Amino acid sequence: MQKILIVDDVPANIKILRELLVGDFELFLATNGEMAVEVAESKLPDLILMDVMMPVMDGITACGILRTKPETAAIPVIFITAKNEVEDMVKGFEVGGVDYVTKPFHPAELNARVRTHLELKASREQLLKSGRQLEHANRQLEDRNDQLNNAIEQLNIAVMTDPLTGLHNRRYMTQAIEQEKLRFKRTQRPFTLVISDIDHFKGVNDNYGHECGDEVLKQVSRTLRGLLRDQDHIARWGGEEFLMMLPETNLKGASAVADRIRLAVAETDTDCSDHGVKVTMTFGVAEFRSIVSVDEIIRNADSALYDGKEAGRNRVVVYQSR
Ligand code: GH3
Ligand code: MG
Ligand code: MG
Repeated sequence: MQKILIVDDVPANIKILRELLVGDFELFLATNGEMAVEVAESKLPDLILMDVMMPVMDGITACGILRTKPETAAIPVIFITAKNEVEDMVKGFEVGGVDYVTKPFHPAELNARVRTHLELKASREQLLKSGRQLEHANRQLEDRNDQLNNAIEQLNIAVMTDPLTGLHNRRYMTQAIEQEKLRFKRTQRPFTLVISDIDHFKGVNDNYGHECGDEVLKQVSRTLRGLLRDQDHIARWGGEEFLMMLPETNLKGASAVADRIRLAVAETDTDCSDHGVKVTMTFGVAEFRSIVSVDEIIRNADSALYDGKEAGRNRVVVYQSR
């Protein structure tokens, strides 16, 4: 039931208002402005019918006080005023009154105004509630959006990463080489590809087991990554094959890097059997100078690698155009 606070210092007036509203509303009474403020704060009525002239504190002062308190600020106040006080009603509106009725009032008119302002108040509250719900829904959407973006980011990383070694994968490297090729078109700065393949890796699996083979792949990956610069790219290109791209590096520089890596790999033990396991690697190096296709430069590096295998493995071979 909606609550109405009736404020009037004349018992006869209270009686009339009470008889008019009782049954439809829960009613509270106050006989001066000060009391009205107290009751309003404790009962939080939906509407206040406020006499203007009262002892202790008049209705306009009381309304002004109610407006300054957050809990009572939104409670609509209808002033009940004598005919000769109508001019004072400007003040009533200034302090936040929503309406006024002149005494003696017509019951139907008072009833209509009371109901109108109660409905208005309910609509305002509903609007505020909807606004809050919208804000809440909006925040949830934003959170969901953040989660989705994070998931997409994770997926993008996963799609470009080799799960065993944590290095980039073939898909990433193909894109990185295409990018570098575009940069070459602008800057004419050559870059070098180094393809490397573990020697007799099948033997590692056969002698020590597949899990040990995996450990060797991880160890080799760490060694390779550790010896490259930040701007160099490396990917696991195939089973036991790695492709490195060294921007702004010529054949001489790349061969030197490859040889350092070759020596480091050959010296590094992987701790996966009673004795550490050592492997060697063979490297093929090719430089990108003119606009050839990415496939072609990879084929060139591959061909140098093949030559290195043929020549006895554990070596670096530079591609020479024939
Ligand atoms: P080569 O010196 O001529 O390169 O000889 P290889 O034995 O290294 O070459 P081959 O191509 O004959 O064998 C490669 C082996 O690598 C076979 C394959 O089972 C193994 N291999 C490929 N991917 C993985 C992997 O993810 N884990 C393990 N443990 N072995 C792998
Ligand atoms: Mg091999
Ligand atoms: Mg191979």
